[in-house]
Amino acid sequence: MTDTKRFFTDRILTWNRSHNDRTMPWKNEKNPYFIWLSEIILQQTRVEQGRPYYERFIAAYPTVNDLAKAPEEEVFRLWQGLGYYARCKNMLAAARSIAHSGKFPDTYEGIAALKGVGAYTAAAIASFAYNLPHAVLDGNVYRVLARYFGIDTPIDTTAGKKRFTFLANDLLPKNQAGIYNQAIMDFGAVVCKPQQPLCKTCTLSPHCEAFQKGLTDLVPVKSKKLIIKKRYFHFLLLEQDGKIWIRKRTAKDIWQNLHEFPLVETPAPADLETLRQTPGFQRLLPIKTKTTAPGIELKQQLTHQTIHASFIRFSLSPDFTLPEDYMLVPANQLDKYAFPKIITDYLKR
Ligand code: SF4
Repeated sequence: MTDTKRFFTDRILTWNRSHNDRTMPWKNEKNPYFIWLSEIILQQTRVEQGRPYYERFIAAYPTVNDLAKAPEEEVFRLWQGLGYYARCKNMLAAARSIAHSGKFPDTYEGIAALKGVGAYTAAAIASFAYNLPHAVLDGNVYRVLARYFGIDTPIDTTAGKKRFTFLANDLLPKNQAGIYNQAIMDFGAVVCKPQQPLCKTCTLSPHCEAFQKGLTDLVPVKSKKLIIKKRYFHFLLLEQDGKIWIRKRTAKDIWQNLHEFPLVETPAPADLETLRQTPGFQRLLPIKTKTTAPGIELKQQLTHQTIHASFIRFSLSPDFTLPEDYMLVPANQLDKYAFPKIITDYLKR
């Protein structure tokens, strides 16, 4: 290892000894099930948002066997609001396979084979729970490494991933993998932040390429710009004698396995009259029916999509019916079903 690399690793560990104050309930945890749970919850989720979910999950399911035995609908309801429901489905599948095998895997390969576990999560669990020498690479680590070593290879390319993976593993002190992995992520979150990094007081600044050359705003580099798609959802609240029609979303799309009201999606914003002309609307409500309340509009921002949703209520006669993938449920029992956040926000109103 070169002097610059040794300096980096030593300084990260020294910094951690005096700044180990980023308190999180899963920090210093050794139970692989709790670590795995926290890592799955935190994928694409901020720490402050994920923390209450983590606490609720370990209270409801103190062991992986408890989670494995839980009914899917119950787990989805506990997950409600976190988004990315494929994560929840994979988590349950993984819990069931662990329970079936009799113990939590204790090798990197065994952990990486679990559903929903990628390279980062596998390295985090392997190093935190078992101190196995696998370096984590998340957004914080990419940023610290790119800046300190002045690397401008885009981090979202195969070449970039290869280069950073090799470097991260080269820097890893093999006997302190868990502590070091946590330390470098904390360092990225607290000191080498995306905006306004604390370079003036940073322990790495004497050898930091980006700081020395004034490049902190230019690295890390990404090759692709995130494209955000706009979608227009119109939920029809079809009420019949105190009951309401819902169905489970089964298509491979956002919110798979959650429930929703009958939905018409349009490629652009549409008022009610325009909506009535669409084949989707006419399939659901072929007869002219008056709305019973003004429509309500809500918006939800997902990573790759902005959802603009309108909710329109209709009161229907007792002979109205929908195809068999729809269910008519009592309105006061809607809380038994897991819905996407935008629908629970609407229901809270
Ligand atoms: S000097 Fe600045 S850019 Fe370099 S590692 Fe420290 S905080 Fe990050």
